[in-house]
Amino acid sequence: MRILVSNDDGYLAPGLAALVEAMRPFGEVFVIAPEQNHSGASNSLTLNRPLTVNRGANGFLFVNGTPTDCVHIALTGLLQQRPDLVVSGINDGQNMGEDTIYSGTVAAAMEGFLLGIPSIAFSLVEKGYRHLDAAAAVAAEIVGRLARSPLPEPCLLNVNIPNLPRSQLRGIVGTRLGKRHASEPVIRAQSPRGETIYWIGPSGPAKDAGEGTDFYATAQGYVSITPLQVDLTHTGQLPTVMRWLQSS
Ligand code: MN
Repeated sequence: MRILVSNDDGYLAPGLAALVEAMRPFGEVFVIAPEQNHSGASNSLTLNRPLTVNRGANGFLFVNGTPTDCVHIALTGLLQQRPDLVVSGINDGQNMGEDTIYSGTVAAAMEGFLLGIPSIAFSLVEKGYRHLDAAAAVAAEIVGRLARSPLPEPCLLNVNIPNLPRSQLRGIVGTRLGKRHASEPVIRAQSPRGETIYWIGPSGPAKDAGEGTDFYATAQGYVSITPLQVDLTHTGQLPTVMRWLQSS
């Protein structure tokens, strides 16, 4: 199996190195990741300047761009052969509920999926890489399952792993995305030059964290896998909009 590995925390992130090692037993591994941390980059492509690809001391290729740039470049020009799987992570922090909209980790996997390749995003629920070894073992377990028994169609899987020792993880369950409350307010401060500056505040706490959600599963000590789709059409609202257009 040929596996493309990327992330959004940058090519030097411990989570990337752990995921690469976990993937090596499955075959040929190709690594390309952003030069700098691009958490929150979503699906952005760099269109206003050229990009360069360099090899770091750790052997990984890095791009002075976004996670999506990395996977896009790899799949549309750099790789001689198409990979069988794209994996992203292991992210330093959770990507649950609406996080998936902003996540560069999910976006890197989504780029693979949009180009027709099964893709998986891996995230550790709490920041700080505690029990990263267990998360890497889980990633290997999930990829092993996919290798033994492929899903009937290419899927985009969003995996969140509780920061627990392997022995305390209770299993792997399929979930839907939960929902968060609105984000915390932006943080306003004064720069040394007297300008008003803003830091984007933290995401809101979970609002829909009921049974069946990613929030619920991980809080119970389970690894959560949510299959994602990319179609943003609100099919249920389409008739309302069509009626609204006819009535005015
Ligand atoms: Mn990140």
